[in-house]
Amino acid sequence: MKILVCGGAGYIGSHTCVALAARGHDAVIYDNFSNSSPVAVERIAELAERPVALVEGDIRDAAQLAAALEGVDAVIHFAAFKAVGESCEQPLAYFENNIGGSVTLLQAMEAAGVANLVFSSSATVYGDPDSVPIREDAPLRVTNPYGRTKLVVEELIGDLCAARPGFNALLLRYFNPVGAHPSGRIGEDPGGIPNNLMPYISQVAVGARDCLSVFGGDYPTPDGTGVRDYIHVMDLAEAHVRAVETLRPGFGCQAVNLGTGQGVSVLELVRAFEEASGRKVPYRVIARRAGDVAMCWADPSRAAEVLGWRARLDLQRMCEDAWRWQSANPAGYRSA
Ligand code: NAD
Ligand code: UDP
Repeated sequence: MKILVCGGAGYIGSHTCVALAARGHDAVIYDNFSNSSPVAVERIAELAERPVALVEGDIRDAAQLAAALEGVDAVIHFAAFKAVGESCEQPLAYFENNIGGSVTLLQAMEAAGVANLVFSSSATVYGDPDSVPIREDAPLRVTNPYGRTKLVVEELIGDLCAARPGFNALLLRYFNPVGAHPSGRIGEDPGGIPNNLMPYISQVAVGARDCLSVFGGDYPTPDGTGVRDYIHVMDLAEAHVRAVETLRPGFGCQAVNLGTGQGVSVLELVRAFEEASGRKVPYRVIARRAGDVAMCWADPSRAAEVLGWRARLDLQRMCEDAWRWQSANPAGYRSA
């Protein structure tokens, strides 16, 4: 199949392009590099078992999308801004890029007769869950503008599928993607101070930062720190391959959780990372971060039923692979 991968130069997109190529699919990266590096595309080409094409473009550019969609069988749509804090300060930029960009993409797909879409959603659409593990039919509620963009786009895609029975979509709700390709050549490369736990821990371990701030030690969890469902990005990439292969006429629209089904606390992740890296990760416990939930992990059974997929790589592999990437590229793609 020929797959247009919007946001394909980014963290999850780059790993997905390598996985698509390994399955014999033709991936075309469509990215404006607003949060990624052309070096990632070179590295994807090095790891992929077949050529991966690149179109430098913006999903808000209808004409360029129309050209890129020619002959495409399915679209995987990763292209979005993703920083929760920034979305609270710049909500309109998030609405424009994440919602506006998605509407332009859907219009371009309809005009080009491309009827299969895989959309990057997030566990953030569950807000503060009533209970864990979280099933896809749990109540949806959002706590910040970024989360709202994910929920709104899910709903827009659902409406389009209802209006166009030929249109098929998978809404993939990721839990906490971490880790890197086992080669250490591609990985997560946040600019500035990382917002997320795993890249922060990696940067402390490599000596780029002094100390991890643990946000809250008084949650109702076994060790008092927040519990999340960390999932290896290689497992996530594999789920996207299954997703494009699952979409078919009459499929309709379904939301699927992508997680391991296991909760891991902040301190458990710190210890696992210390073991994998052989480095100390100094930390201090500070106040809770506004908007954080105590516990969040997936019930991944629908992914097994719908995609025939389950996560395989454990916490140790997530930490080993994150460390290999971080230690070989201490400044991310800027180390190249
Ligand atoms: P990322 O920022 O590394 O990748 C997104 C890519 O999209 C980047 O390469 C960026 O340059 C590109 N992009 C952004 N706006 C664009 C536009 N208008 N036109 C073309 N390209 C554009 O992020 P990621 O971590 O790989 O996440 C991918 C998707 O998954 C995002 O939609 C994100 O919201 C979602 N998601 C991520 C996580 C996570 O923790 N990483 C969790 C849940 C959901
Ligand atoms: N966290 C932390 N210090 C950090 C970043 C995150 O203690 O510097 C905690 C956070 O409070 C949460 C967990 O780590 O309990 C995962 O946070 P992340 O931002 O990676 O993901 P999300 O909050 O989106 O699940």
